[in-house]
Amino acid sequence: MILEKYSFGLGDRFARQGKALLQAIIDAKNSGVSITPAWNKSHREHMITNTEPADVRVEADAAVKALGWNDSYYVDADHINLSNVDMFIGSSDFFTIDVADFIGGPADEKGITAFTDHCRKYLGSLTIPNTDRTLDITEEQIRAVARQFLSAVKKAGQIYRHIEAAKGPDNFVTEVSMDEADRPQTPLELFLILAAIADEGILAQTIAPKFTGRFNKGVDYVGDVDKFVEEFEQDLAVIDFAISEFSLPENLKLSIHSGSDKFSIYPSINKALKKFNAGLHIKTAGTTWLEELAALAVAGPDGLSTARQIYAKACSRFDELCAPYAAVVDIDKDKLPEPEVVDHWSGAEFASRLCHDQSSSDYNPHLRQLLHVAYKIAAEMGDDFLGALEKYRDIISPNVTENIYKRHIRPIFME
Ligand SMILES: [Zn+2]
Repeated sequence: MILEKYSFGLGDRFARQGKALLQAIIDAKNSGVSITPAWNKSHREHMITNTEPADVRVEADAAVKALGWNDSYYVDADHINLSNVDMFIGSSDFFTIDVADFIGGPADEKGITAFTDHCRKYLGSLTIPNTDRTLDITEEQIRAVARQFLSAVKKAGQIYRHIEAAKGPDNFVTEVSMDEADRPQTPLELFLILAAIADEGILAQTIAPKFTGRFNKGVDYVGDVDKFVEEFEQDLAVIDFAISEFSLPENLKLSIHSGSDKFSIYPSINKALKKFNAGLHIKTAGTTWLEELAALAVAGPDGLSTARQIYAKACSRFDELCAPYAAVVDIDKDKLPEPEVVDHWSGAEFASRLCHDQSSSDYNPHLRQLLHVAYKIAAEMGDDFLGALEKYRDIISPNVTENIYKRHIRPIFME
């Protein structure tokens, strides 16, 4: 299975917007840009929504059938590890092997020395084609990278071989992710990590490093945009070079776990992709669910009441909801309105606080992040919530499509 040049990871907590999401991909195709959809849902999400990996396959297949999509598509077992991969084997054909937790784990000295010897030819000043930058590589740096990352890559190899044994070679796409690490990986580290991935025999088609800056859930990029662009372009050049140096799959490309809505860096990503003629896999997080919530708030009094209840419960269970996402939310509690205040908001007022429109003085990124991680509350409401999604489908679905197409696909791949 060879993942196409541009691919888009679609998140859908409640599996009700499969068609609306695919419609955005179809809109792109009708405008001349081919993007391959991948429905992604992590083990963490399944635990929180009490769903099964097979549900995502059912959703994707149904959407594809209903809309007559004849191109390829994938179901991504997102952020899996050895302890939970088995439940994804049957229904997924894209595996995001998350080894961030193994970074800095024990690596044996023999392995470190062997890796260092293997990379010895890169010592000194290494020129990466298509950039004006050189990487200055010392033996100590190689050893440090090996010490930091070898055990994580070995773990990825173990998981990769486990999947390969179950599914057969060439029957799945492999991504290696380290984006939930404590600190970003430099282009030099990425280069050496790719060397280790090749040594380990992992046929990775996408790699998700942690980039510089904050990729908080559902809100814009926080950090130095120029620094991000410089790093991103170096990463693209490093990947090209690594493909030829280490005989990695020709289509290996970056995967950005965007957490959604990184609007301020989209134009630079777009430019860099064109400059390097590079592919990209981009995952959006659960903003589909926020589109659902915003639409419910304006759909009718019952929808607004549901939205208010979710917010009130989210405030009272703040720590519990934020804990699984501690690395990717930054919420100032003082900026959260009291539920009693929210109870007096109209639907339009609720939506204007929640919707990510930076030109609006109403927009509240703290409330948005809290609601982003509050889908557990909606999941607990069960059929009451799912029934509301059905009842107001005609209001919700166009918003879901427009959000993905206009606010993400167009700026990243088209404009
Ligand atoms: Zn991620």
